[in-house]
Amino acid sequence: MTEQYVYSFQNGDGKNKQLLGGKGANLCEMTQIGLNVPPGFVITTSACLDYLDNHQLADGLLDKVKVQIKEVEQTTGKTFGGGENPLLISVRSGSAISMPGMMDTILNLGLNRKTLAGLIEQTNDPRFAYDAYRRFIQLFGKVALDIDDEKFDVHFEAIKKQSGVKADVGLDAGHLKEISDLFLQVVHEETGNPFPEDVFEQLEISIKAVFNSWTGKRAVDYRREFHITPDMANGTAVNVVTMVFGNMGNDCATGVGFTRNPGTGINEMYGEYLVNAQGEDVVAGIRTPKPVHELKKEMPDLYKQLVDLRNKLEAHYKEVQDYEYTIEKGTLYCLQTRNGKMNATAMVKTSVDMLNEGLISKEQALLRIDPELLEQLLHPHLDPNNNIPSLAKGLPASPGAACGKCVFDADSAERLGRTGEDVILLREETKPEDIHGFFASQGILTSRGGKTSHAAVVARGMGKACVAGAEDIKVDVKSRRALVSEVLISEGDIITIDGSTGEIYLGRIPTIQPSFSEELKTMLAWADEIAEIRVHANVDTPERARTAASYGAKGIGLCRTERMFNATDRLPIVIDMIIADSTEERQIALDKLLPFQRDDFQQLFEAMSPHPVTVRLLDPPMHEFLPSEQQLLDEIQALKQYETILLGQKVTLNTLSSNTPLPPPFDQLDEEVVNIAITKKELMLKKVRDLFEVNPMLGHRGVRLGMSYPEIYKMQIRSILESAAICIKRQIPVLPEIMVPQVITAKELVQVKQYVDEIKHEIEQANRIELKFKFGTMIETVRASTRAGALAETAEFFSFGTNDLTQATFSFSREDAENKFLPLYNEMGLLEDNPFEVLDVKGVGQLMKITVDLGRKTRPEMKIGICGEQGGLPLSIRFCHHIKLDYVSCSAPRIPIARLAAAHAKLLENEYSEHQDDR
Ligand code: PEP
Ligand code: MG
Repeated sequence: MTEQYVYSFQNGDGKNKQLLGGKGANLCEMTQIGLNVPPGFVITTSACLDYLDNHQLADGLLDKVKVQIKEVEQTTGKTFGGGENPLLISVRSGSAISMPGMMDTILNLGLNRKTLAGLIEQTNDPRFAYDAYRRFIQLFGKVALDIDDEKFDVHFEAIKKQSGVKADVGLDAGHLKEISDLFLQVVHEETGNPFPEDVFEQLEISIKAVFNSWTGKRAVDYRREFHITPDMANGTAVNVVTMVFGNMGNDCATGVGFTRNPGTGINEMYGEYLVNAQGEDVVAGIRTPKPVHELKKEMPDLYKQLVDLRNKLEAHYKEVQDYEYTIEKGTLYCLQTRNGKMNATAMVKTSVDMLNEGLISKEQALLRIDPELLEQLLHPHLDPNNNIPSLAKGLPASPGAACGKCVFDADSAERLGRTGEDVILLREETKPEDIHGFFASQGILTSRGGKTSHAAVVARGMGKACVAGAEDIKVDVKSRRALVSEVLISEGDIITIDGSTGEIYLGRIPTIQPSFSEELKTMLAWADEIAEIRVHANVDTPERARTAASYGAKGIGLCRTERMFNATDRLPIVIDMIIADSTEERQIALDKLLPFQRDDFQQLFEAMSPHPVTVRLLDPPMHEFLPSEQQLLDEIQALKQYETILLGQKVTLNTLSSNTPLPPPFDQLDEEVVNIAITKKELMLKKVRDLFEVNPMLGHRGVRLGMSYPEIYKMQIRSILESAAICIKRQIPVLPEIMVPQVITAKELVQVKQYVDEIKHEIEQANRIELKFKFGTMIETVRASTRAGALAETAEFFSFGTNDLTQATFSFSREDAENKFLPLYNEMGLLEDNPFEVLDVKGVGQLMKITVDLGRKTRPEMKIGICGEQGGLPLSIRFCHHIKLDYVSCSAPRIPIARLAAAHAKLLENEYSEHQDDR
């Protein structure tokens, strides 16, 4: 063994999380800055990888471990395996990236018959000693020997029942001794071997078990879900720490805390503790803990020490800390600290506050927030004015509102979630193995546990609503029902939870959109100061434009005009335009459409004034505005049947010589009217058949329509420029940009530009004004990319339509790939990501680089942006910044994310690499 695999807390490098894991590095760092950490050492992540590769511990590793144990013995005065003052240790996992509860931990290691006797004599507290012993046997049995928890639990529950005890604390030393003996038997029966008495054997087995937990299902699932790659965290370290006990009596306690409130970000003491308990009891939610403020009354001196610890942690780490502590007979120990996982509201508030307090710089304030996190801030919350009484109340553990069908286990949540249903996972308490249920649920509700229980921590990390510890709810998983006083909740019933207040409601409660907090505005304004790439919005309606502007969009990067054609008052005119037989007929329909479009653009320009608005000329194939062939056939058949009925009616009336007129509207519906309808439908059917294309997305669309039907593009150009003229006259600053889709050659652009110039001249003359606007093209075809130099002679701006450009580069149909083979490609590792979601830097990105170079060679000041879906993704924004695009355009809710990501891209530009590889 040449590499050093074991470090004492005194010697390990507190900054090297890759090697020592986050927990190990922090234990080293805390020890070295003088905090009271129980002595111990770290076995490195490299030792884990070595073990996983070779299926055995590295040569000499156990000798080094023994040397470290000796050191701990010397510092503590205790002996590992000793009968007098026995040293007990915990063996804990910890990788570079925190994966709460995903891997394994063993406590009270070092107990055997001899040390147990020693512990009893030393503490004079057999109850405490047997309690530690039974906990150790069960944890060791479960984690290291792979024995089902249930095998132990049945005995535990049976003894509790026999002795008429409800809570664990009610068990006396005799009960716990009996339980320990039964547990030892369980181990023997399940493994065929007695429980290991040799403490070093216990340690060796445990180290291996923790290493193995790195490749356990839970940990692998978690890494996949959170995109934790090997370069972020590879292997787990093992932390061996002297046990300290929060359960040695009423002068002992254990607790967890955040240095600030992780739900709101407020700078206050936050956390929970339990007197006379072990740390796991708080996290597991077995007993409901007390808020930390009560410690002030209960143990005032220790509360002061805790405040001091909290202040030291923040001052040193310059980041909100999530810490664990134990009070053993009046001494406070800090057992662990890590950067606190908080929701978006708290992250933003703490960024702004910590900057104002001088704790961090503006760059740090921005960089500590993952842009994706901001999405939470745009989630709906419950309408505070709803008058519906709540059914029950728990602890507000992770803010946000969620509504869905109630399910009682993680597997059902996953099953139902996969079908697209919204679900709320209702459990007594959650455990790490429920993680897949979290992913599938809209919200989590538990009847036990506190704000730092597993459910609360994991939900907060995921930004999902969570109400914890709603003790009035009696959950019965077996019958898949829960009871709240008289009210029964059955599986599948809709419930709503409010993670901000803790209220739980039966049924669906209306929600409202959240507004931007002042802190978020402040932080995003800092982001804008730093960012070089601007953020525009992909919106098509004035209302969405106003929302986008309120989210901070600096323009509209893509207005898809076809969406304006689909409104109910326009579609019939659009259909007339499509089925028109001659240019003149088409012009009549276009003349009707023009005022609608002009009005749309005017409102859009006003909503986004004074920023630019890029309007794309018609793009989709025309058949998209018509019904399908089958629908038309069915309708024509129905009309013909109706025509026969009308005829029959007439015959009936004539035969009976009745003078009774038919009531309206049937009096109007004679065969002639029906005939007109049939003729129109038949014309539409003919058009649908004429327009049929095997692959319309690669067919008659985009500028090809503008070439075939110049009058359509001319109408749109006129609407844009006339509305600009109206705005100018009303002194509203406007910056329209006319954008041509699907271009393959400069000649197409020259042609459209000619229409533009003619219309511009006409409008300028008529209004005696000068129109200022830009003319440009989308880059969506490979040919446009390679001909960018020529296109730039006419185009004043480029906008990458990376949805189509990805389709063109991969020859993947954007309509089908994502449902058919792309998931398999990702699973097999043939492609890392879905290229329609994450910009494919290695393929599409290279075309973009060529385009930028060629375009700016012709026109150095060329404005270039992106408006494909990838434009709102932080990873893609970093690439766009890298190749010097001027803007990214994305949907409105992604604007805050993109603004922060744009600042990150600038701040981290020197660390950017395109990760070139050969695939
Ligand atoms: C694109 O192709 O990236 C684009 C924005 O256009 P659309 O998605 O409308 O084809
Ligand atoms: Mg496109």
